[in-house]
Amino acid sequence: MTTATEVQHHLMRIGGQDVDSGRIMTLIDPSDESVVATVAQGDAAHVDAAVAAAKAAFDTGVWSRKTPQERATVMRRIADAANDAIEHLIELELSCNGATIRQATGFHIGYAITHFSYFADLADAYAWRRPAPIMTFPTLAQSVVHREPIGVVAAIAPWNFPLLLTLWKVGPALAAGNSVVVKPDEHTPLSILEFARIAERNGLPPGVLNVVPGDGREAGARLASHPDVGKIAFTGSTAVGREIMRLASGTVKQITLELGGKGPSIVLDDADLDMAVDGVLYGCFVHSGQVCESGTRALVPRDIQDEFVARLVERAKTVTMGPTRDWDTDMGPVINATQQARILDYIRGAEAEGAQVALGGQALDGPGFWVQPTIVAGVTNDMRIAREEVFGPVLVVIPHDGDDDAITIANDSDYGLAASVWTSDNARGLAVAERIRSGSVWINDAHQINCQVPFGGYKQSGIGRELGPDALDAYTEAKTVHLDLSGGRAAKPYDILLSHAD
Ligand code: NAD
Repeated sequence: MTTATEVQHHLMRIGGQDVDSGRIMTLIDPSDESVVATVAQGDAAHVDAAVAAAKAAFDTGVWSRKTPQERATVMRRIADAANDAIEHLIELELSCNGATIRQATGFHIGYAITHFSYFADLADAYAWRRPAPIMTFPTLAQSVVHREPIGVVAAIAPWNFPLLLTLWKVGPALAAGNSVVVKPDEHTPLSILEFARIAERNGLPPGVLNVVPGDGREAGARLASHPDVGKIAFTGSTAVGREIMRLASGTVKQITLELGGKGPSIVLDDADLDMAVDGVLYGCFVHSGQVCESGTRALVPRDIQDEFVARLVERAKTVTMGPTRDWDTDMGPVINATQQARILDYIRGAEAEGAQVALGGQALDGPGFWVQPTIVAGVTNDMRIAREEVFGPVLVVIPHDGDDDAITIANDSDYGLAASVWTSDNARGLAVAERIRSGSVWINDAHQINCQVPFGGYKQSGIGRELGPDALDAYTEAKTVHLDLSGGRAAKPYDILLSHAD
């Protein structure tokens, strides 16, 4: 397709075919602003074609009517093949989104493949037919609840964990027998395009998984409103989540939304400070803070606030930034110039509101979009930097006056995705966790994304849950099938309407 010196051009995947378009998106490496590749940009017509292909594949039953065990077998084969291609997938991912090689290996791609395998296992283990207790009133009968695929599922994905967060949608959708259309983020379509090709080479029938790179407001919006799409699964900003709800409402689609966060890291006065300092920094700065469940508000006992900030600063100074493919690099760039400017604007805004930058607070010279690891002290929970998702390497420190106060501050947020509690007393940690209004609470830990438990948010952090043993519920319809066992007309309660025939 290209010579070695040329930038490779990637095509859409629709109905098992490579599809080009007259428009091109240029993908940039956020670490050095080099051109990574170009990709065909899809529009509303390409979305329509992909939905039509997905619907046709669904209607033939080529995937939807396979047994769950057959689907699981194919999905495991795909996971194995993705594992064989892991280094290529890592390079595709980090070149577009700026993850360090350590993070891309462990989190971005390592988790993506492991979690896809988990969904294959779920296809095997899921209760596809659930007999209800025999009923005797008003007549003898037996009901069985069938779980059936919805049809065409749309997945709209962000750039921070492109493959992982896409497969959180594609995995359960395929396990349940749906067909899928993915609209990747504009910055990061390559890993899922490659995954779709791997999937087709390893037994996924054409048209079952379609990938249409394109602009959110054009291709994404068309997908979210398409009449033949039965469910939409989205991860991204709360603002776009609201818009997707509005678009999906036209045809009353099922939706799963995984939106923003403003996670509290609650340090109690008995915390092991060595672990808490490292844990709070880990919870905030992984992937340059571009993780929805990051702990971005450190809530620290007032009387150790100065000591804690000093220790955070000393430790954060050891976080190195450098080439993303260098195994010694701790932290990479942020995704683009717009995000970089937005992050700096939040920091300047916090200073204007009276907070103090204890570390960092500046961009680094380019090329690339770099922001120093930043710690902002003297923050109160009403400041903009404490209320809005910054999505950058920015930790704010807010003092608290004991467990009750910490819980009040933690819950005083529009968001409720994840929180952490740092304490040497497990019972105290559990008691605090019970009172936190968020979808995950980690006690003495951070960024624990375990595919065997549900993940998602309270409040404006989203609707529904991804992962966990019930993950297929959100990608299936429940159909109750009632079988009459009464033995004849005489036992029926039809006399509510009809008089008894003698
Ligand atoms: P975004 O919400 O704009 O984009 C996410 C996805 O939605 C992309 O695929 C995009 O093309 C698509 N999209 C955009 N507008 C759409 C529309 N009208 N209809 C359908 N799809 C649409 O996110 P962003 O602009 O890349 O980032 C902005 C902020 O969002 C970040 O600063 C961060 O706060 C938040 N964010 C959160 C997550 C998360 O994991 N929860 C991920 C990325 C970004």
